[in-house]
Amino acid sequence: MDVDAHLWEDGRADFIAEVSNQLKDKITCLQCGTCTGSCPVAFAMDYPPRDIIRMLQTGEREKALASDTIWVCSFCNTCYTRCPGGVNIPEIMTVLKNTAMREGASPEKKERNFYRAFAKTLEEHGRLFEPELGLRYGLSIGVGRVISDLPLGIEMLRHGKLPILPHRIKNPGKVSKMMTRIKEAEGE
Ligand code: SF4
Ligand code: SF4
Repeated sequence: MDVDAHLWEDGRADFIAEVSNQLKDKITCLQCGTCTGSCPVAFAMDYPPRDIIRMLQTGEREKALASDTIWVCSFCNTCYTRCPGGVNIPEIMTVLKNTAMREGASPEKKERNFYRAFAKTLEEHGRLFEPELGLRYGLSIGVGRVISDLPLGIEMLRHGKLPILPHRIKNPGKVSKMMTRIKEAEGE
């Protein structure tokens, strides 16, 4: 674990030490932003992955543990494979989730809302349309969330990280039927 001495002095290093002690690898983040730029669900997070790592560095423990991000991360490993510092973000998200749950967090509502928004978008188009998923999930939390997510969404659209229009498959009805069967099986 690499932690600057001055961070230990004012207590900010406690959080990164707490997390890194539960990991196999060091947290050597350069704040390059590759993780945020690569994350397929960053648009649905309240803080993108780089910001979560920054919170570890600055000791913002409560903010990180209260974030939606740790519940929205799909553990796809894209950020990890591209990170120049080898930061294992999915593993960090797991540590943060476990810590939040130990301290009484109730993630069910956020996870369920995200799942429902995900399923509804798939039903509509037969494949994922990220801006709609972000909007549906944001609205399920509140208009304030949609407004706060807008700048990141616009930035991602500008850089071609999000599609402007949905790409519908030939027969979205098949996916819709499949999603209906899944929901019935899960008692939704
Ligand atoms: S890609 Fe790695 S080094 Fe770059 S900001 Fe993300 S965690 Fe830090
Ligand atoms: S592992 Fe999580 S944070 Fe990393 S790219 Fe995938 S969804 Fe995003």
